[in-house]
Amino acid sequence: MSTNATTLAALPQPEEIDREERARRLAMQYSCSSAEEILRHAIETEFPGRVALVSSFGAESAALLHLVSEIDKSVPVIFLETGKHFAQTLSYRAKMAHQLGLQDVRDIKPDTEEVAREDATSGLWKQDADACCNLRKVRPLSSALDGFDAWITGRKQFHGAGRINLPAFESSPTHIKVNPLIRWSKDDVDAYVERHDLPVHPLVAQGYPSIGCWPCTHPVAAGEDIRAGRWRGAAKTECGIHGQVSSLDGSGPG
Ligand code: SF4
Repeated sequence: MSTNATTLAALPQPEEIDREERARRLAMQYSCSSAEEILRHAIETEFPGRVALVSSFGAESAALLHLVSEIDKSVPVIFLETGKHFAQTLSYRAKMAHQLGLQDVRDIKPDTEEVAREDATSGLWKQDADACCNLRKVRPLSSALDGFDAWITGRKQFHGAGRINLPAFESSPTHIKVNPLIRWSKDDVDAYVERHDLPVHPLVAQGYPSIGCWPCTHPVAAGEDIRAGRWRGAAKTECGIHGQVSSLDGSGPG
């Protein structure tokens, strides 16, 4: 490829620029809207049949799953089945899907041949957590999102770090991400769960306020950051799905 062609390929394509403008317009339009208003617009008007919810079925997932189920139980729910989840997460996933009447929960697994080739001993998480997340989360999600224009995440500004300035709608090179819970606090999540009498992930009571794969999730002490138990002791703070689907995330995973 010539230098000019390489430069052109690296530039945002017209479709991507359109997506960015669309996300910017939506973010402004819905900057003061409720989670329910944002979701209803995304599901019924902006992306009908073209939007999926990505859920980790973790500690904070119940509220968003319930909000979506109240609007449309047939919205696809993508669960990244990494093969490394706690047994409690798998049973919680089944319980929530049944109780909320979710009609299209998809267990997305990593490619078997890629796992055999790249993680034959199943210990990649110890040697290179980024590579393990890429194999078990980032690439499977990228494939699972084919055919969708947008996906819904459970990220919240109170999680801090790169989430502090999250808008309700944001663009990536491939999709628009819908973040209906950006302004929710931990108390808002807890109050919603209590008000609607939703099941709580069983590990929350054991000191896990944020739950991912078992090798990379630890309980946190009182006063610690909510995500302090994720990849404890490592510089890593995100699984990479937002960086990758974006330039590739909680309730999205990550
Ligand atoms: S969270 Fe840990 S076990 Fe799960 S995919 Fe990432 S590195 Fe692997």
